[in-house]
Amino acid sequence: MTRVFLGVGSNLGDRAAHLHGALDAVRERIDANARISTLFETEPRLDESQPQFLNAAIELQTTLAPRELLRILLEIEVGRGRRRELDRPKGPRTVDLDILVFGQQTIDSPDLTVPHPGLATRRFVLAPLAALAPDLVVPGLSTVATLLAACSDEGWVRPAALRTGLLASLMVLVLLLGGCDLRPPVQRAAGVDFDQAVHAPFRAPERAEPARTDENPKDNEVIDILVDKRKELFQRPESTVLTQAEALAARSGRQFDMIDIYRKTYDERGAGHYVAPRLAYAYINIGLLAEARKIVDKLLIARPDDWRTHFIHGWLRGTENKDAETAIVETLQAWEKALQLGVKEQELYGVSREFIQKRVTDARTMLDRAGKSPTSQPAAPLSDDAKLAKADQLLHSKQAKAAFLEYSKIAQADPTNHAAAVGRAIAGWQAIGAEDEAAGLGLLDKVAERQDLTAFELDRLGAAYLEGPKDKERAKATWSRLLAQFPDYAASVKLQERLSGL
Ligand code: ATP
Ligand code: CA
Ligand code: CA
Repeated sequence: MTRVFLGVGSNLGDRAAHLHGALDAVRERIDANARISTLFETEPRLDESQPQFLNAAIELQTTLAPRELLRILLEIEVGRGRRRELDRPKGPRTVDLDILVFGQQTIDSPDLTVPHPGLATRRFVLAPLAALAPDLVVPGLSTVATLLAACSDEGWVRPAALRTGLLASLMVLVLLLGGCDLRPPVQRAAGVDFDQAVHAPFRAPERAEPARTDENPKDNEVIDILVDKRKELFQRPESTVLTQAEALAARSGRQFDMIDIYRKTYDERGAGHYVAPRLAYAYINIGLLAEARKIVDKLLIARPDDWRTHFIHGWLRGTENKDAETAIVETLQAWEKALQLGVKEQELYGVSREFIQKRVTDARTMLDRAGKSPTSQPAAPLSDDAKLAKADQLLHSKQAKAAFLEYSKIAQADPTNHAAAVGRAIAGWQAIGAEDEAAGLGLLDKVAERQDLTAFELDRLGAAYLEGPKDKERAKATWSRLLAQFPDYAASVKLQERLSGL
């Protein structure tokens, strides 16, 4: 049995009927269990003077050889009125069935190329495929989610089911993503409605229904305005501009372009930017959890004191669905942290502090009822020194992210533990400094402000400035402090020589 993905598209006649007809034929002739992705409205690409397409991806299992499969697909196309000899190339067609991926096989021959050569460069192919299998590794390339995130195709795509406001619409998509069950199994087993407990807040804000048709000539104008808004993000208070852009995107059914705007801004500005939690949020909504996780991991380091970080982290943990019990416990912990840090009224996606508080309380009650109270979990009894040694060990073995989290735990329990604070800053720099220099430097500068650092910590910090950001001035300042405060230590490590070498 080979796992196969097909691309299917139509832009003539009743497009949805053609796609579903093709699916029915595939089920009848190839695999009764074949499944189809969400349908996407997409912009015609290769020949732009033609009607909008409806595209989807189909997943199936087969014992057929690739060429036998292709032959059947071409017959199915003909059965739905495709007359290839009359079509202009890349022009309108009732239905087009392409083999995108055929197991791990690569085929390169005149009549068949697999993986499909256009796959990585076509957003209209990647988006539906990502809706079915974001983690699928395309032979010779990377995962579908990664390809989509890196795809430079400017053509827009949007789920065909989306017609209402941003949040409601994205939720519709989430529900349509067949392969993506968002409810941890333990919740169902315990008779707990995780969805109600944890996800409901995100359904709350309803926005106005856009009055538009498929062939709205204003589409391109909207895009222009959205792009302008993105430029404005660099000059004006970010939340205002984003809110305006989001409202506009929602009114005109352009939610996916909004995600693009988040992504481009994020690529340029990094995890320190206000747009980062929103992009993570959007990724969660369209089921690209791995992409969301990458951002959230960075947020945990770049913006650990921002409630949004913990809010999104909690939501993602609840969605990742790996180890359900832990996920819920961690969701609660993250949200409680967000509450501590002061969730701002109505600032994020229209969710209020009270709403989160209520969800935390509800989820806690449910966990209690299921006998899974987070408070009943004993903390592993590890001495501070042992914890520190573990964190240092992680740092030395270049696991900066993990080290950062370990140091953070120690520093949180004991803010006067300078060794942990310095370790945390160094690990933080190593984890994000290359991508987000300002955030990384901020971490180092923050501990440098501490007045009662020991000699060893000052030494370490100075070295970190040199090795990380290669900032001689800061290294000099730190080591000069060391020289003034701890002359004996300084002499023993030949600090004077190091300083004059700078
Ligand atoms: P594109 O391949 O760029 O999407 P198209 O789908 O418009 O173009 P068609 O006219 O539908 O092109 O197909 C032309 C021929 O392409 C088919 O008859 C088939 O032999 C060949 N072909 C090569 N590789 C594939 C593939 N992976 N899936 C489907 N057809 C393929
Ligand atoms: Ca094609
Ligand atoms: Ca084709």
